[in-house]
Amino acid sequence: MKVYKFGGASVKNAEAVKNVAKILVADAPTKILIVVSAMGKTTNALENLAQHYFNKNDDCPALLNAIKAYHYSIIEALFNDKNHPVYNQVNNFFVEIDWILEDEPQDEYNFIYDQLVAMGELISTCIVSNYLNLSGILNKWIDARAYLQTDNNYRNANINWAKTQALITKNLPTILQNELAVTQGFIGNTSENFSTTLGREGSDYSAAIFGNCLNANSVTIWKDVPGVLNADPKLFKNTVKFDTLSYTEAIEMAYYGASIIHPKTLKPLQNKNIPLLVKPFMASHESGTKICATENPITTPIIIVKNEQILVSLSTKDVSFMNQNHLKNIFVAFADLNIQVNTLQISALTFSACFDFDETQFKQLRQTLDTEFNIRYNTHLQLITVRHYNDATLKKLSQNKQILMEQLSRSTAQIVVKNKIQE
Ligand code: ASP
Ligand code: MG
Repeated sequence: MKVYKFGGASVKNAEAVKNVAKILVADAPTKILIVVSAMGKTTNALENLAQHYFNKNDDCPALLNAIKAYHYSIIEALFNDKNHPVYNQVNNFFVEIDWILEDEPQDEYNFIYDQLVAMGELISTCIVSNYLNLSGILNKWIDARAYLQTDNNYRNANINWAKTQALITKNLPTILQNELAVTQGFIGNTSENFSTTLGREGSDYSAAIFGNCLNANSVTIWKDVPGVLNADPKLFKNTVKFDTLSYTEAIEMAYYGASIIHPKTLKPLQNKNIPLLVKPFMASHESGTKICATENPITTPIIIVKNEQILVSLSTKDVSFMNQNHLKNIFVAFADLNIQVNTLQISALTFSACFDFDETQFKQLRQTLDTEFNIRYNTHLQLITVRHYNDATLKKLSQNKQILMEQLSRSTAQIVVKNKIQE
């Protein structure tokens, strides 16, 4: 039993959907659960629609029409028969969106967001499942919301593992015994039967949840890169692909911002010792990267770049030392506002922290800490993290850069810089 996950890029147009079918044929599929994301940039488009609807803008029909046109152009390229049931099925999903948009927004934004944005995955899997069936790859379309049970923390819902495990164990192995199944990433369901989402890029996490509950032999994420590389190939030349990587290393990479792996994905797999394979969807015969319990030492430095960082420096107004009571107040403020610090430094009189910039969040932070501290900050910075660094790499990365903060531990170096590495 395996889980395959195809992200938005791997189903972004008709050609890409055909390529998914090719991969499955080449793989002689049996007992595979296929988890699929929304097509291309659909989640961004639906997110935008949700914002405009919430703000009562009058361009919602136009925004929705663009989303419809994009999907229908893919359907028309995949299904010659205009009477194919897929047309009706997709239309029904769009009617659900129409119904939401017809009424004035009554609910809170995060709730509305999830009801609208979840449709991207439902529509995408409907198209992919129908196309696979048409191509002779027989499969059953499954509504992930019948399995992934969550709380009602909309936009970042938490899995109720006991309920999810019970539902998956009860039904899915029997279905997968006989046929392939296609389901959605990223979405779940509350006990009141409302849709939830698991946080942006959450489809990998869904694949890991299904993999964990099904005791899968492996989970494969099909990507537009050859595997896990030591750096983003859009930013660096001569990147190196890892054949194997330990769970711990991959977790560290995800933590520091390597976008290839969603941070929540690895734990459910590590807990059950299920390997995570990252493979290129354009060259499915290649081995990609296997993330598993390996002791292989890493010798190539891994470079992770995080953009849009803010560096904030706090110093006490009464020029007293940065003691434990000041630190306590600072960390309480960060925790209350849900700000994750990416790197920090403390000196006698100053506390400096670097984190992802969010204007509203930062405004609230300033309001909270303003009475006790003098606050200075720089925005639009880049945080470069190097795991398993060496002098040569650090020297190269720091060349011609204005470094605002630097931090070295035994295995990890971090620099916060003003002039960025750009694509
Ligand atoms: N479609 C969702 C997103 O774009 C989930 C995913 O692709 O993983 O965030
Ligand atoms: Mg995606």
